[in-house]
Amino acid sequence: MRGVDSVNYRFTGDEAPVGRDLYITNTGDWRIKYPVMDEEACVGCGICALYCPTASIMPKTRRKYRIDLQYCKGCGICAVECPQAALTMVDEGETASE
Ligand code: SF4
Ligand code: SF4
Repeated sequence: MRGVDSVNYRFTGDEAPVGRDLYITNTGDWRIKYPVMDEEACVGCGICALYCPTASIMPKTRRKYRIDLQYCKGCGICAVECPQAALTMVDEGETASE
């Protein structure tokens, strides 16, 4: 795509009329924790997706959801709002079982 840096989507003034040097970063870069979904406990209600401020949770199948860690900023709202306690926040660099 013309004028877009492939790493950080760096727009120049021509493509971003609201201002020069506007950066749209991958919000996942900020994260220190990430959510892990227990797919057995998840009932597919979609409440986590409704609350996610970065729209990082989206349907995978009709009753299953997936989390896009490129944009998940690790706020933990999804884990707080999940009525099934199916989401656990885990430190970056660790896995859910550690
Ligand atoms: S809120 Fe919890 S139970 Fe509902 S879709 Fe999200 S992870 Fe699954
Ligand atoms: S931790 Fe925050 S940004 Fe990441 S999926 Fe959950 S609600 Fe969305």
